[in-house]
Amino acid sequence: MTRLARPAGHDPRGTLRDTLVSRVDIARKVAVVTSLDRPALDAWAAQALSATVEHACRNSPFYTDFVPAEVARAVAQGRPHAFEALPFTTREHLAAAYPLGMLAVPRREVIRFDESSGTGNGRPIAAFFTMADWLENNLTVAGLLAAVLDERDVAAIAVPYELAGVGQDLDRAIEILGCTIVPLGAASPSCTPDRMVDALLRSGATTLVCSGTRALFLGEIARRRGIDPRRDLAVSKILMAGEGASPAKKRRLADQWDAVAYSMFGMTETNTLAMFCRERELHLVETRTFFEVVDPGSGERLPDGSVGELAVTTLASRAMPLLRYRTGDVCRIEAAPCTCGSPLRRLQHRGRIGDRIPLGERWTSQLEVEDIVLGAMTTEPYYFAFDIDGDALQIALPPTGADDATRKSIEAAVRDRLGAATRFRVLDTERFETALRTSAKPTMRNFSAYGGGGTAGEG
Ligand SMILES: [Zn+2]
Repeated sequence: MTRLARPAGHDPRGTLRDTLVSRVDIARKVAVVTSLDRPALDAWAAQALSATVEHACRNSPFYTDFVPAEVARAVAQGRPHAFEALPFTTREHLAAAYPLGMLAVPRREVIRFDESSGTGNGRPIAAFFTMADWLENNLTVAGLLAAVLDERDVAAIAVPYELAGVGQDLDRAIEILGCTIVPLGAASPSCTPDRMVDALLRSGATTLVCSGTRALFLGEIARRRGIDPRRDLAVSKILMAGEGASPAKKRRLADQWDAVAYSMFGMTETNTLAMFCRERELHLVETRTFFEVVDPGSGERLPDGSVGELAVTTLASRAMPLLRYRTGDVCRIEAAPCTCGSPLRRLQHRGRIGDRIPLGERWTSQLEVEDIVLGAMTTEPYYFAFDIDGDALQIALPPTGADDATRKSIEAAVRDRLGAATRFRVLDTERFETALRTSAKPTMRNFSAYGGGGTAGEG
């Protein structure tokens, strides 16, 4: 029998002890940073920002080439406005650097490799973490989730786990809080929506973590099986991840489940960027990331309160630092303090730039259409598809939800809010539900994909 060669002086127990001690040190660091008040946080962030730029420009193959040396030097010297001279990083840069071009530490220090195919052209991008990166994320997110979760909670997690840092991060963070986890995943053949509903029932889940669209779908599956989510299931909190949610969708979920719906915001390449508080406001995770809102056209930085594109810079990511990464999300940052007492500024998410839809002379978005349609619907199932037909909005409703009153209400809201006419179609419910079952990230769009069977009434 061959034996593995061990280096002289190898001490497995010592290695384990060192690993655990380093984890305690990481936890202490997170505890310090997450208890800073606003002025101290700003001072810490300024230091972390210049350290990130230096690390990225020295160690990331991408940034070594990408950032002009004089700009990197000006940031290191702390010159005013030097940071704003840094070029923006885009998703295309990350796709071109795939798989290892963004990696800023030796391979042996990487403990996770995640991927996202995103919503755009489908080219993959990679995300890496060192042990410190990962643990700091988990502990930071756990600290924020503690606003509404504790060890009495049973959390059913129905988000993609495969290659997805956000799903895994939420799982670890919720585990740290001592909750019971029911790992449902998303769209896996071994855990169908029916089985998810069974698991919610049997586990006594108090918390459902998933996209708002999936939560509406699971509520519908339960209802059809004679299980009333309000009466028969213990879910009182829905933590929404993976897609934006309109106010109407949150109200629908609250009705359907007798639960409070909370929003989270993050992406594979950045991890969690914003987390809800007990007041249901969304707070920026400024202990991990530096946030700017910029003019999508000129790239000029806009003051707090302006609506523009969110750009993020990591403050403590060793494996994959990102500098001024344009997220493609339309956002507004609110600096006024929240009643929850958090020093973290608040984020209002207004949808994705790529999701802006031309409608006649105006622009609309998936979130706006969703707000109108879900706000008007009175009969389950609460889903629909839509498309633009010239200067009119085409909306496909399930046959059961297309009564006169609902259609009139939608028509009036589309006219008042979007200045457009509405044409109704019948949603091919079966096709739509197949998409909900099989898609890791189901949404309420793609009218043509989900089918709008025959016409249903006036244009
Ligand atoms: Zn708050």
